Amino acid sequence: MKTHVQVAVIGGGVVGCSVLYHLTKLGWPDVCLIERSELTSGSTWHAAGGFHTLNSDPNMAALQGYTINLYKELEAISGLTCGLHHVGGITLADSPERMDFIKAARAMHRHMGLDTQIITPEEIKELSPIVNTEGILGGLYDPLDGHLDPSGTTHAYAKAAQMQGAEIYLRNPVTDLNQRPDGSWDVTTKNGIIHAEHVVNAGGLWARELGEMVGVFLPLHPMEHQYLITDDLPQVFTRDQELPHIMDPSGESYLRQEGKGLVIGIYEQDCDPWALDGTRWDFGHELLDNKLDRIGDSLEFAFKRFPCLETAGIKSIVNGPFTFAPDGNPLVGPIPGLQNYWSCCAVMAGFSQGGGVGLSLAEWMVHGEPSRDVFAMDVARYGDYCTKAYTRNKVRENYQKRFSISYPNEELPAGRPLNTTPAYAIWQQQRAVFGQGYGMEHVNYFAPEGEPLEETPSFRRSNAFAAIGNECRAVRNSVGINEVHNFGKYLVTGEGARAWLDGVMAGKLPQIGRVTLSPMLSPSGKLMGDFTISHLAENEYQLTASFSAQDLHMRWFEQYLPALNVDLKNISMSRIGFQIAGPKARELLAACTRFDVSHSAMPFLSVRKIEVGQCDAVVQRISYTGDLGYEIYVPVEQQISLYHTLANEGMAFDLKPFGMRAMMSLRLEKSFGSWMREYKPDYTPMETGMDRFMDYKKEADYIGKAAALKELTEPPKRQLASFVVDAIDADVVADEPIWKDGNVVGFVTSGGYAHFSERSVALGFVPAQMIVEGAIFEIEILGEMRPAKLFSKPLFDPQSKRMQS
Ligand SMILES: Cc1cc2nc3c(=O)[nH]c(=O)nc-3n(C[C@H](O)[C@H](O)[C@H](O)COP(=O)(O)OP(=O)(O)OC[C@H]3O[C@@H](n4cnc5c(N)ncnc54)[C@H](O)[C@@H]3O)c2cc1C
Repeated sequence: MKTHVQVAVIGGGVVGCSVLYHLTKLGWPDVCLIERSELTSGSTWHAAGGFHTLNSDPNMAALQGYTINLYKELEAISGLTCGLHHVGGITLADSPERMDFIKAARAMHRHMGLDTQIITPEEIKELSPIVNTEGILGGLYDPLDGHLDPSGTTHAYAKAAQMQGAEIYLRNPVTDLNQRPDGSWDVTTKNGIIHAEHVVNAGGLWARELGEMVGVFLPLHPMEHQYLITDDLPQVFTRDQELPHIMDPSGESYLRQEGKGLVIGIYEQDCDPWALDGTRWDFGHELLDNKLDRIGDSLEFAFKRFPCLETAGIKSIVNGPFTFAPDGNPLVGPIPGLQNYWSCCAVMAGFSQGGGVGLSLAEWMVHGEPSRDVFAMDVARYGDYCTKAYTRNKVRENYQKRFSISYPNEELPAGRPLNTTPAYAIWQQQRAVFGQGYGMEHVNYFAPEGEPLEETPSFRRSNAFAAIGNECRAVRNSVGINEVHNFGKYLVTGEGARAWLDGVMAGKLPQIGRVTLSPMLSPSGKLMGDFTISHLAENEYQLTASFSAQDLHMRWFEQYLPALNVDLKNISMSRIGFQIAGPKARELLAACTRFDVSHSAMPFLSVRKIEVGQCDAVVQRISYTGDLGYEIYVPVEQQISLYHTLANEGMAFDLKPFGMRAMMSLRLEKSFGSWMREYKPDYTPMETGMDRFMDYKKEADYIGKAAALKELTEPPKRQLASFVVDAIDADVVADEPIWKDGNVVGFVTSGGYAHFSERSVALGFVPAQMIVEGAIFEIEILGEMRPAKLFSKPLFDPQSKRMQS
């Protein structure tokens, strides 16, 4: 056993072996894998081995596609077989909503380059005669679906890695991890200590315990999962061709051929998190007791859908645990606040995702960043809010909803409310319908009297449509109030603050009392953030950005933070408040303060520390609604006091509350982009129009400068554009393909109905040469081609006179 390595990967399941393989593939051969027992001693050995490309996140889907295509490469390198069966798969739809769901998925697949198809009940029957298609309206066929041999595949990864220089130490549990002052790790194992520059937690069922060894809670939990293997069936063994996989969402089941019989697995509603207090160290080679009573209803449903099952004998029943994060996606990347400790766990579909996850982590370690945006699986998408109990509640919900329709406007109820602000109770009294992001409740909209206090999940315009429209009009016609608690906020102070910010931000820094907008770039020139920078006082700056990117941004800042002269604090939860926006916003603010807030005293993009009511507030003249507006921040303890001041004075101006749905509608008619929709680490400043906030001429050698300057000389091939869509009763959501002359030429990043302008709007990328005012495209919404006209001037207030008035 080596005593020093560059990387120690802990865990010899499919994920750890994939990481090991990819590190060697990218040129880091001085790596080892340490396994407690034998390879595949966790979830991996009892997996059903199914794989598929479907995922609601396009980058995750692409990584799943990469994983599936990798198996041939592994077989060729290692000489071992993965036991591949590329049989294709069909997801059944038995209601109009499910048809909408698969049509929306099919539309997204077009721009992802996935060759899925909507097929008829007759075609389903032809491909899989064992399906009773009564009540089935159609299906989504994916030719890439299939299954493999879990053990063979894991060994193929391991052998390929060994052939490229990696070492594997079996029967050697890691019992302790201690960090040295230089950030490297002493990895204590049964057979001695290995000094590793980096450690990867690929501990699967024991990832929680490996996190605890370094004082970290990883938001994941194991769930029990059962599948049944039948005896041989004539409906199967008399066929020449292998049956395709069938996903039957209404029955919560998946079914595939296994030898001459079938395998059926059930995501049962009656389910429980497993091993609440941790996974036993001696667990691994046994199965859990069967709990057939839990899947009785689902089996009955399955007997109707697949009549041949009714008389089939059961050869074996597998009940095993595997881990999930609250949203079902993996937890990958550097753990915020911990140097050289990498997470690669909560991979719930190791045979669909393991390859892509291993590749992304290896790229991150070797190249400093993954080659595509991986926020959907970044461990930093969760923060401290995510307690153990909340994690369990969300994991359970995610398991239960594994086969449910995910609606774009859906808010999942488990574990809520968790975090709230003092204003929560006030909004409740005003009939707020809430959503949640990053553990925090926010108002989506206010339900009028007599209407239900919930939004009906739908792919089409929902019951909230009229109420959201009224909120938008209230803002544009008078003044609206909305909470600004769900921004990530950071206070940067100290003598070195300006110099540091100049090196981290790619835009111009503001003078005292002023506000600027700035992109933050990665070394390769991709967007890492879109920040509002407010210069509050000498050596004092407030940064504002996406609420859900807090851990991502803190991890980034800390990576580049100098040891001296700069103090950085995340003040997202301690400094909150409201924004007021609309033509009467200034009059309202003036009524709440004795300070001069006239245009000359407080122009657009200025910031002041002034009294508002009884509160010492930070007020910045900026509004994401694109209207005359102010964000007013106060200490969290004073939020209610601030509210009463604004509400009391607001009566004279017909002040109305508005929620996030209205806010998103208002920003659309200004063509303002949004973080993780239009702006994310896949895109560059010039692609997104963020170049207008860049300071290309500044002296500071800011992160990403070389790449940004290069982009100036080599303009991007695609660019963000806005479209008015001739929609009927469904607006775009994201990832719909944009067509021109019968070809897919781009994709939607976000959109919706711009209520004040009374237009359905889409934002999306198309080839730069196609960006011509008035050009006509088509956007596929729920399987229907809708005409879409490109526009370049915002629909509302194109000269920005209101905002700057
Ligand atoms: C019943 C069932 C059916 C499934 N079906 C499918 C399917 O059809 N398709 C699919 O893609 N996925 C399926 N899965 C999920 C799949 O099994 C997991 O996604 C995958 O196995 C996760 O692999 P892993 O490497 O992350 O974790 P694990 O397989 O749990 O591996 C972790 C490894 O780390 C080792 N380890 C932990 N702690 C230490 C330590 N301190 N020192 C040294 N070694 C340590 C363990 O011994 C273990 O070998 C199924 C799971 C179950 C339970």
